[in-house]
Amino acid sequence: MASAWFRFYEELNDFLPPAQRKVEFEHRFDRRASIKDMIESLGVPHPEIELILVNSRSVDFSHIVSDGDHISVYPVFESLDVSPLLRLRPEPLRNPGFIVDSNLGRLARYLRLLGFDCLYRNDYRDIEVARISLQQHRTVLTRDRRLLQYKVIDHGLFIRSTAPKDQVREILKRLDLYRLARPFSRCTRCNGVLAAVSKESVDRSLQPRTRLYYHVFRQCPDCKQVYWQGSHHARMLKLIGDFIAIPSGSEETESVDS
Ligand SMILES: [Zn+2]
Repeated sequence: MASAWFRFYEELNDFLPPAQRKVEFEHRFDRRASIKDMIESLGVPHPEIELILVNSRSVDFSHIVSDGDHISVYPVFESLDVSPLLRLRPEPLRNPGFIVDSNLGRLARYLRLLGFDCLYRNDYRDIEVARISLQQHRTVLTRDRRLLQYKVIDHGLFIRSTAPKDQVREILKRLDLYRLARPFSRCTRCNGVLAAVSKESVDRSLQPRTRLYYHVFRQCPDCKQVYWQGSHHARMLKLIGDFIAIPSGSEETESVDS
């Protein structure tokens, strides 16, 4: 029987039983296995991982674990420049394109409100999510750990929070997306990129009061929804302010389900 020593960092510990969190622990094995398979057998989905060091050297997922290896496993950490160390992927995971699992519709709408490119349908099947993620290089956002174990998914985040607003805050913080937000630039219904339009061009679709009080309009080129700074705009602004206020220093991400 061979053994290797594992240490998981930061939020990867969420996937481990308490006794294995934030400590180096021994894992015994008797079959030759890649480091990817061994890590997933310990419960950690591979798309959550950015960097693996074996005896202080960076390796990729195909590395075969040897007896006595000391293995450090790090999560996606976009805010640090780890590019000199990276062996898992040709470039870091900073990809602000998302595909959202079928039961997280409100999360998708909030991310679109912030301007993030976010595909969502409530009838996506797992295999479609995986295929689109691969073809379009989109990061999968899900609360289903099994979905992240699809082989073809290599960009993905397991969302810890259960409340949609907390989920948005969690994603912004973990991927350090604050500076990439472009509020009010996308259609929250369908993800289209909004374009400025003249009042005349949308006049027929406006209610009388809207026509009277508002003069600046944008429209989704895909679903034709018209947007203006109406009565709910102030509420949206406050919500956006809550989302993109960078949290102070050291506090941990709140996790509703822990
Ligand atoms: Zn639209």
